[in-house]
Amino acid sequence: MEYEAVIGLETHVQLKTKSKMWCGCANAFGAPPNTHVCPVCLGLPGVLPVANEEALRLTVLTGYLLHCTIPAFARFDRKSYFYPDVPKNYQITQYDRPSTANGYLDFEFQGATARVRVARAHLEEDVGKSFHFERNSGVDFNRAGVPLLEIVSEPDITSADMAYVYLNALKEVLQQAGVSDCDMEKGMVRCDVNVSVRPKGSGKLGAKIEIKNMNSFSGVRRALEYEIARQIDVLRSGGALAQSTRRWDDMAGITEEMRTKEHAHDYRYFPDPDLMPFEPGEKWLEEVGGRMIELPLARKARLMKEYNLPANDAEVFKSNVALCEYFEGIAKRAKNPKAVANWVINNLQARLAETNARESAEQAAMGLEPDDMKLTGLSDLRFPPDALLELIGLVENKTISSSAAQQVFVEMFDTGRSPAAIVQERGLAQVSDTAAIEAFCDEVIRANPGPVNDFKSGKAAALNFLKGQVMKLSKGKANPTVVGEILERKLKG
Ligand code: ADP
Ligand code: MG
Ligand code: ZN
Repeated sequence: MEYEAVIGLETHVQLKTKSKMWCGCANAFGAPPNTHVCPVCLGLPGVLPVANEEALRLTVLTGYLLHCTIPAFARFDRKSYFYPDVPKNYQITQYDRPSTANGYLDFEFQGATARVRVARAHLEEDVGKSFHFERNSGVDFNRAGVPLLEIVSEPDITSADMAYVYLNALKEVLQQAGVSDCDMEKGMVRCDVNVSVRPKGSGKLGAKIEIKNMNSFSGVRRALEYEIARQIDVLRSGGALAQSTRRWDDMAGITEEMRTKEHAHDYRYFPDPDLMPFEPGEKWLEEVGGRMIELPLARKARLMKEYNLPANDAEVFKSNVALCEYFEGIAKRAKNPKAVANWVINNLQARLAETNARESAEQAAMGLEPDDMKLTGLSDLRFPPDALLELIGLVENKTISSSAAQQVFVEMFDTGRSPAAIVQERGLAQVSDTAAIEAFCDEVIRANPGPVNDFKSGKAAALNFLKGQVMKLSKGKANPTVVGEILERKLKG
């Protein structure tokens, strides 16, 4: 029998706020343990939480990004459980009345647009982090109370690859909208993976098996590849699967059972008596709506249509908003937007990457951390955007060859001087003056009787050699197209 996988993801994303969810402590990664803590986030008795409004805004903004409805009434519940990293012995979370519901995310997958429905995106708080040393353990509560959005997908994902692409698309949307930095290295995105298998085409869901706390997208993909194959094996060999929770062992590359349904927690949810329900007003919602962005997928489609760009170019601009804005700023005024895209992607982006690599190596040598480094960005460029149009113009009207244009670009990038000035000073203008080129051609034909005979006896490749000689003689300034034409005419005539 053929089986198919059914996958639903619960993705936890730390929101990009200055302070924590219920107190004024900094929401910051990497500080010494227990330095961003206060009575509220340490769960001391008698304190009162106050909701972080920016976290509420980012939650609703996520709702808009994911085409969700925003219920007029939401509230916060207490989810009770004991664990050393949960200082209050409960986590505040939106349970049956979340702030956003019933949306979807569209993304490209295997050459088509795929849609995964989003059941809800609800707001909750992160917990602290346990550390285990040789002889004892410790807890760092800096992370406790950091606003966390849980984005719950419907079980619409059908393969490990699709889960991977969905997660990346989700991350791209959230990053570009400023909802979260989604820095995986800093644990800003974590994922619970739910997966079952069923006979292909069956309308019934199989037993849901949850793999907890994945912290990398490639880990999610590997865990799913393993787990789907494992579940199919169990069924094929006549076994049965029960709803359960498993853990991914990244080193061993396997999942292991943690607990079965009988040992599921009862969290005793009830509305937090210290917190008001969240009932956003029309004006407030409108303000949040003002922070909507053009979604990456829509932007890619628009770039292809508006500027006639190939999918590959549009894809680069889809994932790099700053580069895209830079491109559009110029392309709007360009006759040939594709040429602008080529320069921006192949030259500017590459040169910036090289420059940044050098800058970060230098700054690392001075002991700076990545967060403190100052790298050259698009707003620091020495040349104005119009210089790129000027450069493209010089190539298009054949004033300079495309290889000379590369040299001009490098100098323009380094010094900010205008292309025309660089061309003139370096004498890079092509010679299209046919009389001069004729003379070079005659000289090359005289000096190379061998290749000339080769060409005449049918070896077409000999022409390239002769062309190269003329280019050399002209010190690279002859227009190669004109050289080819003249040589051919002279040799055939
Ligand atoms: P629970 O109440 O146990 O948390 P939910 O219905 O909220 O379960 O679903 C949690 C996640 O599991 C969702 O992402 C959902 O899409 C997914 N899911 C639910 N049932 C299945 C199933 N049978 N197979 C795979 N994923 C599932
Ligand atoms: Mg759940
Ligand atoms: Zn605090």
